Amino acid sequence: MAFDNSYARLPRYFYSRQPPTPVAAPGAIRVNRPLAEALGLDPEWLASPEGTLVLAGNIVPEGAEPLAAAYAGHQFGSFNPKLGDGRAVLLGELVSSSGERFDLQLKGAGRTPYSRGGDGRSPLGPVLREYSVSEAMAALGVPTSRALAAVTTGETVVRERILPGAILARVAHSHIRIGTFEFFAARENTQALTELVTHTLQRHYPEQADAENPALALLECAIAAQASLISRWQLLGFIHGVMNTDNMLLSGETIDYGPCAFMDSFDPDTVFSSIDHGGRYSYRNQPGIGHWNLATLAQSLVAVLHTDPREAVRLAQGAVDTFSDRFLDVHTEGLKRKLGLVTDQPDDAALIEELYTLMATHKTDFTLTFRRLADLACPEGEPGRDVAALYALPGEFESWLARWQQRLATEAQAPAERQADMYRANPVYIPRNHLVQEAISAGEAGDFGPFHQLVDRLADPWTFTSADQHYALPPAPGQEVAQTFCGT
Ligand code: AMP
Ligand code: MG
Ligand code: MG
Repeated sequence: MAFDNSYARLPRYFYSRQPPTPVAAPGAIRVNRPLAEALGLDPEWLASPEGTLVLAGNIVPEGAEPLAAAYAGHQFGSFNPKLGDGRAVLLGELVSSSGERFDLQLKGAGRTPYSRGGDGRSPLGPVLREYSVSEAMAALGVPTSRALAAVTTGETVVRERILPGAILARVAHSHIRIGTFEFFAARENTQALTELVTHTLQRHYPEQADAENPALALLECAIAAQASLISRWQLLGFIHGVMNTDNMLLSGETIDYGPCAFMDSFDPDTVFSSIDHGGRYSYRNQPGIGHWNLATLAQSLVAVLHTDPREAVRLAQGAVDTFSDRFLDVHTEGLKRKLGLVTDQPDDAALIEELYTLMATHKTDFTLTFRRLADLACPEGEPGRDVAALYALPGEFESWLARWQQRLATEAQAPAERQADMYRANPVYIPRNHLVQEAISAGEAGDFGPFHQLVDRLADPWTFTSADQHYALPPAPGQEVAQTFCGT
C-alpha cells in the first residue's frame, strides 16, 4: 500500500493521531476485487491472512498515519459541537493508478478521542448493509463512498442483543464533511477554515484552486455537487435516513449507510429510520434538507467569505439561493431520461406530476413502475428482457400511458434506441430492504452466501435475467421491513 497522507499534514487541530485497536480473531468476509485493482492494490494480498490483519486494524501498514478526524454537526437540526470519528480510523490516503486520491478508513476500528460513550465498534449487520447498499449505489452510477472489504473481528458487540462484530474498510474521495467546517466555525478558528477551504478545493475541485474567492468557489461547488447527488437519490427512490450535516461530504459522495433504504411501494412520506419520529428525513424532504444543510455550510464559511461580514452574508445567501434551481434542473433532466423524453414540451411537467400522483395513489413499486415503462417504450422489445411476468401496472394507469405514448410519438428517437436508454436510466435490481435484511440475518448465523449473491447480483442493476427474478421482486406481504437502525 503506497500512502500519501495529505490530511495528516494539516495542523493537529484537524484530528487526533489514533491507531486502530487490534481485534481478537480477524476473518475475511469479502474483498472488493475490482475496486482493489482500481486502487492499485493486490486483491489476493488483501484477502490473504496478512491483508486481513491490516483490514482488521491488527497491523498498521507502512506509510499509514492513522488518525481520527474532528468534526461537529447538526443532528436532526440540533448543533453538536463535538462529534468526530468515534469509531472510524483513517489509515491514510491511496493514490490510484489514474492519479485519483482516496481515503482508506476502517469503520469499527475501536475507540478514539471522539467516541464519547460509544465502544468504537460495529456489529456485523450494519457492515453488511453498508457494503451491499454502497456498492449497489456505485453500480447505479451514484457518487458514493465504497466498500473495499469487510472482515469479522472474532469479538462480540453489545447492543440490544449481543452481536458479532465486524469492520468495514471504506473508501471515499475524502471524509471532509459540512460538519468539519462547522467544527472550526464554532471555535471561531478562521485560520483553520482558510486551511480547510484550500485543502478541500485542491482535493475535490482543483480547477477552482486559483479562484478569486476560494471559499465562495468551494461553496458553489458543494451546492452543485449536493444538488446533483440528492436528485440522483430521488430518481432511484433512495432514502438516506440520517441527513445530518456530519453525514454530508464536500465531495458530493453519499456517506453513512446506517438507516438508509430504497423505497419499495411509492409513498413520498416514507421514513425507515427508527429514530426519525418527525419524518425530518423522509423521501419528500430530502431536497429541502439538502438545501438546509448547505445553508449551514454557508453559515460556517461566513468568516472566510469576505472581510466585511455584511458582504459575506450576502455572498453566502446568494450562493445558497441557487440550490433549488440547480436541483430542479438536474432532477427534471433525470426524470425526462427515465421517461424516454429527449425534447422539451410545455406539458411535460404536468405529465410527470400525474405519473407521480398515480404512483402514490396506487402505491405502485417505485423501481418496477419505471422499469415497466421502459418495457413499454418499444412495442417489439427484446424477448426475455421485460418484467411483465413479475409486475403489472394497475388498470388506472391506462389513460396516462396512452398520453405518454402520444408524447413519445413526437420524439424523433427510434423506439429501440429509446428503450435501450430507458433501461439504462431505470434499474431492475436495487438493494431491496428485505433482501438486505435476509443477507444480514444469514450472515449473523454464519452464512455469508446470501450476502455474496446479493452483492454479485447488484453489480449489474440494469440487465434483467429471469433466472434472477427473486432479486427484482418487491417484498411479498409479511416480508416488508418497516424500520432501519443507525447501525451503532
Ligand atoms: P452517525 O449517526 O452514524 O452519523 O454517528 C454520529 C456520531 O456518533 C459519529 O461521530 C460517530 O463516529 C459516532 N458513533 C456512532 N457509533 C459509535 C460507536 N459505536 N462508538 C463510538 N462512536 C460512535
Ligand atoms: Mg455518520
Ligand atoms: Mg452512521
